[in-house]
Amino acid sequence: IRLCVEHPLGVGQAVPLSPEQAHYLFGVMRKGVGDAIALFNGRDGEWTSEVVEAGKKRGILACREQAAPQQMPPDLWLIFAPIKKERTDFIVEKAAELGCARILPVQTEFTNSGRIRQDRLQAHALEAAEQCLGTFVPPVDEMVPLSKLLAGWDGARRILWADESLVGAAETLAGLAPGPWAILIGPEGGFSEAEREKLRALPFVTPVSLGPRILRADTAAVAAITLWQAALGD
Ligand code: SAM
Repeated sequence: IRLCVEHPLGVGQAVPLSPEQAHYLFGVMRKGVGDAIALFNGRDGEWTSEVVEAGKKRGILACREQAAPQQMPPDLWLIFAPIKKERTDFIVEKAAELGCARILPVQTEFTNSGRIRQDRLQAHALEAAEQCLGTFVPPVDEMVPLSKLLAGWDGARRILWADESLVGAAETLAGLAPGPWAILIGPEGGFSEAEREKLRALPFVTPVSLGPRILRADTAAVAAITLWQAALGD
């Protein structure tokens, strides 16, 4: 069992559990005093620990030794327009699994959903990191309008715009310059003409095709991250 905790991790640290974590470990997984639990907090790497107190809604783990150093994902962000609830969850989960360093939901003209639950999406990112043995949990930002995000953008990070109007174009991601990137994926309705014009005019935006078929937004996110990781990831 692996748990992500807020608390700092170090030799001998006593790590308190949240009521939900205590319920999961002792109620659901039937763990108890003396059992070993792997821990990470997104900063201090992976640690072994042992249950030293187990209650119904509380518990304490004692941190023993570092099992692996902190890993950081490649410097790739994902900007995406939320779609239906389960498929938005899917995008966040896969972005965390595939090694995105930050996840930024944006509202575009044709964004299907006007609101998101940022805390729920953050919990999905955390679960994905727990599952895939990662020690890093990408932060999920609050949703902002795409225009606002672009207005304040630091052009040192280039934006790889998955542009469905280029569907079938021959170029691939193979020639991309290394450096910090953010992938941009549109909603089911794609980008509006006004958004396209704005994106085309920005010097830090590179439009790309993801191949000969129009992909669903969730598939497009997975495909773009995977292609970027194959070209520039480690
Ligand atoms: N409604 C749009 C249309 O009919 O052209 C399709 C939008 S697509 C379902 C959702 C998003 O996935 C797009 O905005 C784009 O970012 C990305 N996408 C899907 N297929 C793509 C492709 N072949 N090349 C580049 N981006 C793609």
